[in-house]
Formats: sequence, C-alpha cells, structure tokens
Amino acid sequence: MNTKPLLKLADLNFSNRLKKVCPHLFVQVASTPLKNPVLLHTNLDLLNRLELDPRELEKSSFTRFLNGDLDFEGLIFSSTYYSGHQFGYYVPRLGDGRAIMLGEVVNSKGEHFELQLKGAGLTPFSRMGDGKAVVRSSIREYLASAHLKALNIPTTEALAIIHGSDDVYREVVEKAAIVLRVSESFLRFGHFQYFANTKQEAELKILVDFTIDNYFKEFADHPNRYVLFFQSVVKKTAKLFAAWQSVGFAHGVLNTDNMSILGLTIDYGPFGFIDNFDLDHICNHSDHEGRYSFGNQPPIGLWNLEQLGIALQSFIKEEDLKRTLDSYPLIFHVEYRRLLKEKLGLYKNEASDEEFLKKTLNMLVSTKLDYTQFFRELSHYQTTKTLTFPSSPELTAFLIQYEERLSLEKTASTDRQIKMLATNPKFILRNYLAQIAIENYDSNPVVLFQIFEVLSHPYEEWTEFEEWSRPAPIKYKNLSVSCSS
Ligand code: AMP
Ligand code: MG
Repeated sequence: MNTKPLLKLADLNFSNRLKKVCPHLFVQVASTPLKNPVLLHTNLDLLNRLELDPRELEKSSFTRFLNGDLDFEGLIFSSTYYSGHQFGYYVPRLGDGRAIMLGEVVNSKGEHFELQLKGAGLTPFSRMGDGKAVVRSSIREYLASAHLKALNIPTTEALAIIHGSDDVYREVVEKAAIVLRVSESFLRFGHFQYFANTKQEAELKILVDFTIDNYFKEFADHPNRYVLFFQSVVKKTAKLFAAWQSVGFAHGVLNTDNMSILGLTIDYGPFGFIDNFDLDHICNHSDHEGRYSFGNQPPIGLWNLEQLGIALQSFIKEEDLKRTLDSYPLIFHVEYRRLLKEKLGLYKNEASDEEFLKKTLNMLVSTKLDYTQFFRELSHYQTTKTLTFPSSPELTAFLIQYEERLSLEKTASTDRQIKMLATNPKFILRNYLAQIAIENYDSNPVVLFQIFEVLSHPYEEWTEFEEWSRPAPIKYKNLSVSCSS
C-alpha cells in the first residue's frame, strides 16, 4: 500500500543547499514569463515521484508556476556561473543564459530533485541571446529526456512543457516555450572549470566537497576521497557514453559545459539517433568538422574528462589523475561490448566474441540495415528464425556465425527472445517523430501525447503506432537540425 502524501504545489518546500555553502556560484535573477501560457504536457511519472497531486494540473497556478510567474514561500530565482570548452576552445564565461534555478525539493523517500526553468528569460549570462527557448527545441528536449530515461540511460528529466504566444527570432520566427527540467543535480564540468580558472580556490574546494558529500556519499569519509570521486566520474561518464553508442544516440554538442558531473545526459540540442550504423554520422549541421560525430563521442568523453582533471589538479596528484584517465578506454570498451552482446542475446563470454562483434558491426555498415529495426527483428528471430530484410551475402554470413555462437548459450530461445525484446527498443526518437509532434503541437496536441507515451515505453509493441517504428518517410528525409534553439 502506497501511503505517501500527495502534495499541493503550495506545499512544495524549496531549498538550495549548494547556494548556502557556495553563494558565489549564483546570481539572483528575475523571470520573464511567456505571454498567454498554455500547458502542453506533463510527465505524470515524474509528477508522481515528486509526490505532487495530479489534481494540481487542473489549476491555473500550475501553469503560472511553470511560467515563473508564481510567488512562493522560500523560492528565490537564481542562475549559475560556469565556463567550458566549446568545440575545443575555452570560453571563460558561459553560465545559465536561459536557465533559472528554482531550488530543490525532497520527497518522502528523501530523494532530492533540483527544479530549473529553461527559457524563462534573460539572465546576466545571456550574452547575445534572448534567454528564450523555442517550441521546437523544447519539445525535442522534453521527448528526448523521457525517452532516454525509458531506455535506462542516465539523464536529466522534464516535468512539464508550456508554450506562449511570444515570437522568438531564430533562422525564422518561432514561438516560445518553457520546460521545467528536473535533476538530482545540474552541476556540469564547466562549474568546476569556472572556479579553477578564475583562481577561486576556496570556492572550488567548497564545490568539490559539496559534490562528494551529497552525490558521492560513499567516498565522503575516505582518506582518498578526491581520487575516488574522480574515478567515479570517469566511470559514470564512460558508461554513459557506452550506453549512447549502444542505442545509437548522438548528443551533438559535447562541450564541457554540457557534461554532467553525475554522468547524466544533459542539454539536449541538435541530438539525433542513427538510422544505419554510421560512425561518421553528424547530427548537428553546424558541426562542420564533425568533432561531435557519432563515432567521435567516446574519445570526446575522455577529452572532456581530461579538462575536468585539469580543474581538479589541486586535489589529485598528477599520477592519480593520469592513472584514472587511463582507465577510461577499458571501462568504456567492457561496457560497450557487454551492451552489444546483450543486444544480440549473448550472455556467456567466449574468446571469439570480440571478433564476432566487430563482424556484426561491419555487416551493419555494409548492409546499411536500420540499426534499431535490425536488433528488434533479431529479438523475434530467436523463435521465428526468419528476418524480413532483403537477403545479402553479408547478412547470410552473419546469420551462419550467429547460429554457431547461439549454440554456445544456455538460455532457451524463448527466454532469450523475451530478454532481447526488453533490451532492443522497437521505437527510438527519430528526428521525424519529434518533427511530427512539433508540427501538431498547437492544432492537434494529442499527437505529441501519443508520441510521448510510445517513446516512454519503447519496448512495447504499440501495434496501432507501427509506422513510428520505421525510418523516416520520404517527406521527412533530410531534416536538418542545427544548434539554434
Ligand atoms: P548550449 O549550446 O545550449 O549548451 O548553450 C551554450 C551557452 O549559451 C550557455 O551559456 C547557454 O546558457 C547560452 N545560451 C544558449 N541559448 C541561449 C539563449 N537563447 N539565450 C541566452 N543564452 C543562451
Ligand atoms: Mg548547454
């Protein structure tokens, strides 16, 4: 029996532990609410974890809250300083240019949630920007964060999305939106870089200690806490990147300010999922050099960790930093192999596995089969022993070797099928799905609700939405996604 109390919005108790100990990271700001705000969607699962009463959604105060337009006891709006390497170049001052921290709330289980409005207006860090977010990119972030969560990939989340009648100027005139983002912490590598590079050593120590004491508690009392903390960040990051590679997710803008200290996916921009397995795939059309191409992500993860290591060098001896960073490729490799093998329904370890995985990926490159569809069909293949893809010598050769390898497994084929169907999603957030939600958000928002449901349960069959499991129809081929958001 679940006896947790359901809270009214007005009962939310906001605090900001980090600001108490580290006030120099924050500046107080004011929001700029949208005109004529309309609540588009709320993530009920997250609402439930926050223990908010769903009846609150009916009230206009909920939309006003999301619009940064509601006074609250103890609620102080603030934005944070951070810096970071953007496309390899250090930018000393970035900061929350359009994110406003509301503070954190704690549920009855003692879980902490930081709440942040994205797109609620100018802050001292807005530079040339307008502090706003467009409906297009907000819907993309809203859908993607729920989707990655459903794919068991660590990520920040989003509680709700509103849109307004304000015009926002990008390549064309668009409409404004605000997303209420939720995360255990929004700390980025760039926060640590900021204090390190501005020589605010006392502040940096407070930030590092706060991070360990609150998010890496298991090392809090250890004499080697700083090294263990860094090792843990390296491990979480390597595993996050392995998870991205295994589902075919390309983030698009892996600057160090877009790297979460908790190893979460953060700051969804021009992200994309690969259709066919293509290491050269570039999802961000502004990334002309392909620095953040799909295949470059794993080494970029290490490069970013090296920058974090430099920011932490007053806490960790050089040899420990180096040894820790050197562990990244192996952690990544082991995790990526494990995830790929799971996708293939292989649970035992065989000496030939490494070679077989390479061959599998090479087959996917040469046949250009749809990555997601291939693994989904392979899950059913365990019992049907047929695939619907056009036959090719590469695929035939693969299946022969695959059958041989399967014969070494102990799991029954029906059990393997069940496991594989829970590992290989039927649906992924292909750009065209987000585009359909975007095109319909105002005239037919039900489409967005449906896409949200499907992507939040991507392993289910959803036969009524079969078409959304397929690659983009012709009309939506060659959608271009840029940094502008
Ligand atoms: P991003 O590329 O979204 O990670 O953002 C990089 C930096 O630009 C961060 O400091 C953001 O806060 C800032 N920024 C991005 N878009 C805007 C905007 N429309 N208004 C103000 N600041 C922005
Ligand atoms: Mg960012």
